[in-house]
Amino acid sequence: MNRRQDSALKWLVVSVMLLCMPTRPVLPFPGERPPSRSSATSQSGSQSHLPSGPKIRAAMDWFVAHRAWIDDEQARLTEIPAPPFQESERAAAVKVLLSAVGLEVSMDKTGNVIGVLRGASDKEIVILSAHLDTVFPAGTDVRVHRDKSRMTAPGISDNGSGLAALVAVARALHEARIQPQRTILFLADVGEEGEGNLRGMRAIVDAYRERLKAVIVMDGSSIDHVTTKALASRRVEVVISGPGGHSWSDFGIPNPINALIRGSVRFINTRVPTNPRTTFNLGQIEGGTSVNSIPHEARLKVDLRSESDDELVRLETALRDCVGAGVRDEMEASRDRSKGKLEWKLDLMGSRPGGELASNSPLLATLRDADEAVHNQSRLERASTDANIPLSLGIDAISIGAGGNGGGAHSLQEWYESEQREIGLQRVLLTLLGTSGVVEEKS
Ligand SMILES: [Zn+2]
Repeated sequence: MNRRQDSALKWLVVSVMLLCMPTRPVLPFPGERPPSRSSATSQSGSQSHLPSGPKIRAAMDWFVAHRAWIDDEQARLTEIPAPPFQESERAAAVKVLLSAVGLEVSMDKTGNVIGVLRGASDKEIVILSAHLDTVFPAGTDVRVHRDKSRMTAPGISDNGSGLAALVAVARALHEARIQPQRTILFLADVGEEGEGNLRGMRAIVDAYRERLKAVIVMDGSSIDHVTTKALASRRVEVVISGPGGHSWSDFGIPNPINALIRGSVRFINTRVPTNPRTTFNLGQIEGGTSVNSIPHEARLKVDLRSESDDELVRLETALRDCVGAGVRDEMEASRDRSKGKLEWKLDLMGSRPGGELASNSPLLATLRDADEAVHNQSRLERASTDANIPLSLGIDAISIGAGGNGGGAHSLQEWYESEQREIGLQRVLLTLLGTSGVVEEKS
């Protein structure tokens, strides 16, 4: 080997070593920040909102030492089907896990699982939540396929990762014997997805509203964002009905499917602004009984969303106008009205209120401190989550990911990788305890 080859080889070795180094630095813990910055001072220069000490450190370390256990529980919970309105079996499994770490666990009428960790004071409550339900109907194959570090299954990330985190955080606090100042509710709630219409979170906020200090929602895995703005949405079902008849002998009577198509074509030409972002989706359409029957009914489900309440109202009005016009067009085009006319209605299936966390809220400041402590950066985001309910009532709330990496949410190819999940879990733990406060250890 000549000198040039030798130095090229050295360069290669150094490059490979650099490439192999973790992209995130080794984790500091609160109170162990770089000496250039006071441990009690955050980026903004204000007082840190995070607790510190040996017990906190023990809880943070617990996640690192028990990653395999957390992964296994995530897979186990994901394999218990939880279609919309059928969350009870998975709820029962979460109840067992929360009971095992000394929480007082109960279930409410809605089907939520609530594990109570009593604080030094019971006057105020902080909720840490993860939704139980998936978007997948009963009968979906939810077995988890594990290939090296990757787990693949419908619902593995949304919200298998959130549920696993809920149980892991409860367990880490238990093992480290941490007592919060304010009472913490560990909540596995029903009805987050689709037609569930946030009914679990609605029931909880209704029950605890007077004492509710803040809500921290864990949904999915990604820790690169924090949802502080609640996206308002409305879901409606259009139903058009008519006399129905034979395709040949009754030809010419008004046809509900024709009317629905006429109205839909008008509606999808509606212009919506990109700012404020406003969207619609014709998501489900059904009707008719056979190819040679004039249907007596047609149905369409539509999802409407906007960053602006005014735009949302405008969009729903446009849908109503378009369907009305489609029905009128079909009636005018029909040449036989003797058997009856078309009727139509628009039913509200779900409505998610909007809202926004104040930029100077203590909860956001605490999350920012937690981000800094685990060397994470996150951007503010608007989304439709369980946090909509508290945010719409002016209660501090955020929705964050539980750590690790995931993708393909709401698809059969959904996947999750737990590498570095402890960073997300530590971020949750610090944000939770920074908000609840911790009873100081007596030295
Ligand atoms: Zn989710």
